[in-house]
Amino acid sequence: MEIATQCPICESFGNAVALYPSNVDETSFSTQVFSARRLPDRRHYQWVRCNSCTLLRSDPVLDVDLEKLYVESTFDYSTEIDGLKKTYLKLVNKALNGKGLRNSIFEVGGGNGFFLEAAKDSQFAKVAGVEPSTEAINAARADIKPHMIASMMKSGVLEDSSFEVGAMFHTLDHLSDPVSTLKDCFAALQSGGVFVVAIHNERSWSARLMKERSPIIDVEHTHLYTLASGEALFRKIGFTEVRSGAYNNHYSLAYILHLIPISRTLRKRILGSFLGSVLSKIKVVLPLGNMWVAGTKP
Ligand SMILES: [Zn+2]
Repeated sequence: MEIATQCPICESFGNAVALYPSNVDETSFSTQVFSARRLPDRRHYQWVRCNSCTLLRSDPVLDVDLEKLYVESTFDYSTEIDGLKKTYLKLVNKALNGKGLRNSIFEVGGGNGFFLEAAKDSQFAKVAGVEPSTEAINAARADIKPHMIASMMKSGVLEDSSFEVGAMFHTLDHLSDPVSTLKDCFAALQSGGVFVVAIHNERSWSARLMKERSPIIDVEHTHLYTLASGEALFRKIGFTEVRSGAYNNHYSLAYILHLIPISRTLRKRILGSFLGSVLSKIKVVLPLGNMWVAGTKP
């Protein structure tokens, strides 16, 4: 069954221009499709752009139980984790902007909790992870696993006003109701607490260049943001001192190959070969169209 979607910022249905037509069918919704950091297969719903706030959203979507898919999704140990740890810690420090909050941090949708490892090892005394995939939680480091909660982020999962810092890396653009999830994250923060998300930037040069062939135009993504619409969403939730910016990831050449629009079979063949293992060891820093948004709970 098709469901019309609403702009989360403007709360309007319709009032949008169609950009890319849908190419999904029933087979687009396997557990494999919804696993983190899989090979993009370029299935997507119709994408529309809101006339008022310019936010991109999937509209309409099919009636799919996303929670069930994410609970069953698998977690892939990519060679990218060391790079991502560095990148995400930097983003948290950018978001803190000199504020010395070091006691507690929660993360939503963090897979096996690799970022929480970095957070705990570097500065934060108390960590917590909210993650629906049981396979990912089972793969968490021994000292992180007891702090992982197997759930989607919902009201009551974390105690109100109990954390100084919250983070959500590449999860926001997968949510069907980003406003309610952000409100629940806001509630978990102490007054003066800081929340940061990392998301794709649909106005980045790579997204503009590849258009519909960009890996971000995907059935997994429900909304795609710009610096302006990302900040507008944060203000709608009630965050103050809202800031945003682009950031660079440390990627291996193997990961970059994942993203290039060539045939999936060819990509798989290269990645499975000796060349693939060499490519996975070469790290580069690339501005691949990611951005962060941060705000403070008053
Ligand atoms: Zn809008």
